Amino acid sequence: MGKIGFIGLGIMGVPMAKNLIAAGYSLVVFDIVNEAVEKLEAAGAERGSSPADVASKAGDIIITMLPNSPQVTEVVLGANGLMDGCRSGQVVVDMSSIAPLISRGLGEALAGRGVEMIDAPVSGGQEKAEKGTLAIMAGGKPETFERVKDVLAKMGASVSLVGELGAGQITKLVNQMIVGVNIAVIAEGMSLAKKSGVDPRKVYEAIRKGLAGSQCLEDKAPRMFEGRYDPGFRVALHIKDYWNVLETSRSVGSAAPLSAQVAEMMIALAGEGRDTLDHGALGLYYEKLNGVNLKEI
Ligand code: NAD
Repeated sequence: MGKIGFIGLGIMGVPMAKNLIAAGYSLVVFDIVNEAVEKLEAAGAERGSSPADVASKAGDIIITMLPNSPQVTEVVLGANGLMDGCRSGQVVVDMSSIAPLISRGLGEALAGRGVEMIDAPVSGGQEKAEKGTLAIMAGGKPETFERVKDVLAKMGASVSLVGELGAGQITKLVNQMIVGVNIAVIAEGMSLAKKSGVDPRKVYEAIRKGLAGSQCLEDKAPRMFEGRYDPGFRVALHIKDYWNVLETSRSVGSAAPLSAQVAEMMIALAGEGRDTLDHGALGLYYEKLNGVNLKEI
């Protein structure tokens, strides 16, 4: 299949690309930050000079792992973008979390050059990216998915084809909606416990094996009790996902009142300069709202 192209070497892209090298694939990589590229060169990857250069040096598959829709659009359609270097038969796999409508539009543009596209956003964060145990949710043609799924499996514990192009992004938005509201209601409930004179830690222990138990509760409640809000998944990224949730909900006429509320809470946190904290920092939002301290025993 030749070299795999990999563009976007940030918190997630670096460990994902390194896992591909560890699995025996050769890579040609690009990022606008030089130090990011150096990390991959040290691991044995070739440096590309632009997305177009990566496309022309890559074999069948080019992966992108970028912040949001504008960056993916720039890398695909911009000057020296993938469109300038790609050739018929290649597959672009966008693993960034972006707006589903943008994903579909880029797919159409690439199809005009005979290039297929798969959207394959991930859930799991830096630790799972390092361990190669991400949850990968894909959209695209089944026959195109077949061509890339073994490569994706080197980065994820689960790789699911959910539907047509854009379905992976929709799935990721649903994931972010469920996670955001979960974290908010954990903070809301623990505030009630505290304010009522009941120890939130004991509430957590009492409910965690019941119906209210969840991976969110396991990960975020202890963080709130310790005041530990190092990321993890940053508030700024969750706000970005919420814009995509609300824009997509409006475009299909699906009401999302809970998402709109939690988005506002996260925007308030960002307004206080807390956008680089973990999204579990909704605990801080509720501490301020209710005048409680969840860390106090
Ligand atoms: P990041 O900001 O750490 O990395 C993005 C990389 O893209 C950076 O190295 C940046 O220099 C590069 N970049 C930006 N514009 C570029 C351009 N025009 N050309 C080439 N490179 C460019 O972000 P991340 O945390 O790695 O996240 C990437 C994506 O994965 C996002 O969509 C995010 O929402 C999603 N995601 C992140 C996490 C997480 O825990 N960090 C978890 C799941 C999904």
